[in-house]
Amino acid sequence: MIYFVGAGPGAPDLITVRGKEKLGSADVVIYAGSLVNPALLSYTKEGCTVYDSASMTLEDVISVMLRASEEQKEIVRLHTGDPCIYGAIREQMDLLDRHGLPYEVVPGVSSFIGAAAALRAELTLPDVSQTVILTRMEGRTPVPEAEEISRLAAHGATMVVFLSTTMLDELKDRLIKGGYAADSPAAIVYKASWPDQKVVLTTVQDIARAARENGIHKMALIFVGGFLGDEYSRSKLYDPSFTHLFREASK
Ligand code: SAH
Repeated sequence: MIYFVGAGPGAPDLITVRGKEKLGSADVVIYAGSLVNPALLSYTKEGCTVYDSASMTLEDVISVMLRASEEQKEIVRLHTGDPCIYGAIREQMDLLDRHGLPYEVVPGVSSFIGAAAALRAELTLPDVSQTVILTRMEGRTPVPEAEEISRLAAHGATMVVFLSTTMLDELKDRLIKGGYAADSPAAIVYKASWPDQKVVLTTVQDIARAARENGIHKMALIFVGGFLGDEYSRSKLYDPSFTHLFREASK
């Protein structure tokens, strides 16, 4: 069996119990060395063969999986955060389907969840935003035109921008073009949950400068939105005057 396992954002104790168990029984682990904390490899058993996918192609990864499967070995493909976000797992799964090899996905804590915890933030505040947009600037991977940052920014929803730390000047311009006031609150979270995590609170216009001043050039998420401000409404769920399935309103 092949397991695609979400490693979580970095801290070794933020992997799921299931993910840790799969790592512990794997004979072969292929991990994304550029982003996954190598400390997680301490959960592997003795004799486990470990590959760093940073220097491998898709074809290399699949051929390691094929060979190990022929030898009846248990395989873990360890992805950073949750594999469903920019994880490039679909192309792996499609090739495994073609070879008739079974696989399962074990979810993980995405870095944006780890970063929200570092910010001690609620991303979905009543009367601020009830929507979270996870997106990126285009790099070598293009972004569909309808999802261009300024068009998404027009919603004024909570935005989390992945994979864009080297393009922050352009990001700022597009956010402002989309309707964000230059002084809207923004945050940069670098290496969420790692020992050298950094949380920088700034404004949309200062995103690039704040990143430079803090030496942040990679492995960061940019958060934008009113949820970083002070205005919001109380929840209805915990409002004393509101009745719901599990609680009567107090008189
Ligand atoms: N599957 C991953 C995302 C992979 S894309 C997930 O669910 O988090 C890689 C990008 O994720 C990085 O460029 C960075 O923007 C972000 N990232 C990954 N780990 C991070 C961390 N610990 N802190 C902040 N950003 C992180």
